Amino acid sequence: MMPPELDFLKLAVNGVRGLNPYQAGKPIEELEREYGVTDIVKLASNENPLGPSPKALNAIALGISDLARYPDGNGFSLKKIISERLDVAPTQIILGNGSSDALEFVVRALASRGDEIIFSQHSFAMYPLMTQMVDAKPVVTPAKNWGHDLAAMLKAITAKTKIIFIANPNNPTGTWLTASALQSFIRQVPPGVIVVIDEAYYEYVQEQAYSSMLSLLSSTPNLMITRTFSKAYGLAGLRVGFGLCHPALAGLLNRIRPPFNVNSMALAAAQVALTDAEHIDHSLRINTQGMLQLTHAFNALGLEFIPSVGNFVAVNVQQDENRVYEKLLRQGVIVRPVGNYQMPGFLRITIGLENQNRRFIEALNNALNNVS
Ligand SMILES: *Cc1c(COP(=O)(O)O)cnc(C)c1O
Repeated sequence: MMPPELDFLKLAVNGVRGLNPYQAGKPIEELEREYGVTDIVKLASNENPLGPSPKALNAIALGISDLARYPDGNGFSLKKIISERLDVAPTQIILGNGSSDALEFVVRALASRGDEIIFSQHSFAMYPLMTQMVDAKPVVTPAKNWGHDLAAMLKAITAKTKIIFIANPNNPTGTWLTASALQSFIRQVPPGVIVVIDEAYYEYVQEQAYSSMLSLLSSTPNLMITRTFSKAYGLAGLRVGFGLCHPALAGLLNRIRPPFNVNSMALAAAQVALTDAEHIDHSLRINTQGMLQLTHAFNALGLEFIPSVGNFVAVNVQQDENRVYEKLLRQGVIVRPVGNYQMPGFLRITIGLENQNRRFIEALNNALNNVS
């Protein structure tokens, strides 16, 4: 038994005292344990339903023989491939244990009590969590048509602003910003404010007017771009992502990066995954088809959804989303209720394989018609 007299909350630093842990999608094993259901379909965490590239799996298998050794703490080979593919210098790359690791380095290196961090309503849950963690002040701008209101974000900048977070496309809404709108925004941000463009879903976007902000990097020292292997590359379980920025900013972030933050399997798999264009193409085709399958179903049910360019879509079930979520769980389907993103009535569904989407649609039908 724990001695009851120690008040740990009092021992904690300010930022940590107010934190609530991040709510992840329910793991399949947990649903099995709690509800006794099997044959579960999980469409809750924007993972690639095809899994990783077979080439990446092979690299992991080969890497097993080397597990006794520490990984390359500088990630030389992975940085080399990223540098060649994206035309950046290796010194502009910061590797993370998932891209959220890199996002956290920026926050911890640049912001503390008294500083302000700007992000939009309905944006990625990690931004408020990280802001709170360092006891900085979150400045949340109201959304426009569920997406970012760039004019409002510019207006929100003060002398205390340290960082602006923009996910493009955004999660959980799937909304996106045109390259020209975002470029013009970035050019108007004062140089002492770091703009982080989170491109976690970059690979999925097929809109003409969309592009990465990579081309601005060399002329914009206060720009940081993040990418991840967790979504289109299907390697969420390995935890690897990266940030691209000015070498001096990368140097700063490297001061707080733990020495071996990316493990050797992740390094090996990520390098190979980057070179398998065919797997990404296949993943995109599956995603496009699945998105049509789901949005057709929503239209047939008369449900409003937010048009999305990602591998997920937010749908308004027009009632308490947690009740529908529960009814789906009982049928072995895990999605993500996103009412806590100030989106009451909304569930976020990750696009799955054809049969997984069908299972979800059937379960949703049952849930809305009180069959389950
Ligand atoms: C999933 C996601 C990430 C990245 O997660 P990691 O697994 O840590 O790379 C980052 N930003 C957004 C908006 C996401 O949805």
